[in-house]
Amino acid sequence: MYQQQILSEKPASSHRGARKGWLAAAVALPMMITFGAYGVAEFGPQQAVAVVPVTESLPSPDLAARITDTPFWREETIRSGDTLGALIAKLGVDDDAAKQFIRTDPAAKPLYELHSGRVIRAQTTPDGRLLQLRYVTGAGSEITVRPSGTGFSVNEAPAELLRESEFRSGTITSSLFAATDRVGLPDEVTRQLVEIFEGEIDFHRRLQKGDRFGVVYETFSLDGQTVRTGRILAAEFVNAGRKLSAVWHETRPGEGAYYSLKGESLKKSFLQTPVEFSRISSGFSMRFHPILKEWRAHKGIDYAAPTGTRIRAAADGVITFAGRKGAYGNAVEIKHHGAYSTLYGHLNGFAAGIRNGQHVRQGDIIGFVGSTGRATGPHLHYEFKIAGNQVDPSKLNLPKSHTLDARQFARFRDQMQPLQGRLELMARIDLARAR
Ligand SMILES: [Zn+2]
Repeated sequence: MYQQQILSEKPASSHRGARKGWLAAAVALPMMITFGAYGVAEFGPQQAVAVVPVTESLPSPDLAARITDTPFWREETIRSGDTLGALIAKLGVDDDAAKQFIRTDPAAKPLYELHSGRVIRAQTTPDGRLLQLRYVTGAGSEITVRPSGTGFSVNEAPAELLRESEFRSGTITSSLFAATDRVGLPDEVTRQLVEIFEGEIDFHRRLQKGDRFGVVYETFSLDGQTVRTGRILAAEFVNAGRKLSAVWHETRPGEGAYYSLKGESLKKSFLQTPVEFSRISSGFSMRFHPILKEWRAHKGIDYAAPTGTRIRAAADGVITFAGRKGAYGNAVEIKHHGAYSTLYGHLNGFAAGIRNGQHVRQGDIIGFVGSTGRATGPHLHYEFKIAGNQVDPSKLNLPKSHTLDARQFARFRDQMQPLQGRLELMARIDLARAR
């Protein structure tokens, strides 16, 4: 029965016309110009910057030597095309032993990951002997090279970064990623934004032109350069005129979740879509006939997505099957709490460690989209079962995972108000600019 119905799915060739039509429509869309609002706000506890930048104003170490014998710092901003050797020379290091060490010692290797815009610093004696060389890598650790005994030593320690919060907002005119790119929202933050709201919004199918988002998120910077982004602190998303808000709340140190303004957890007991919404998978399903993704007679939901798109466990559970399963091709089945189970078919491959008996957490990657078994194109066949019977999960009212109690809510409200105010202010500025 399954076999026959799978065969009735539209063959891949008939999607080509639809794809062309979609592209043409996308090109023909009037380009609405929206302005992303940018802002930087200080928020929360600030960490001190460990390195005090000292701008060296003397033209050369030789001249410096005549004026003073105090060791001094120089710093250089890395530009694309710079080599470490050239930077060290510009820093006034005139020390063959130090240069030899940096060139040959394996411990000095992290210094070679040069990022343009970052700063590298050296402290030398007036005649150019190296006292300290400091550089913060892309991974956020500070590398220090110092004389030690007759040679040099390298120390690597986490850099103390300045924690700030940043705000971005935008309006969707073509796709979510086009909108986030336009306002400079990093992909990692976009990924969090989707994860926060995916229980409420079907990002694969229900995003609309005119949908808006606003995000307040943490950044960690050094010398005015963002070294990495952190967590989203508050966000809102207006989808089809419905406004959703989320605020991060720590229930105990280091542990927390996102709550609506009413204090309800936004996390659902089951993910709405097991296919990860990513730059690659977004828009892909739009090229296929939408019927492919609807609940069909074969009692599953098909999600068209490029081969290799990541598939996530819909909820916590135990894997009861992982292998080849007839028309399903490579398949995974997971038993969840109570009578619930889910099945994932046509996988291109399984994620590492996915085998019978393995415990998984909600959102864990279990495998990748493919077209194994009886499939006419890459898609995930997803079944949601109660006591072994397939049901349409979109028809069920699955419980929210939890709500804050009165005491927690009072604390939450205090944390939430400044963030909410910030989002509202920025939304107003955004609208005013767009006018
Ligand atoms: Zn299917």
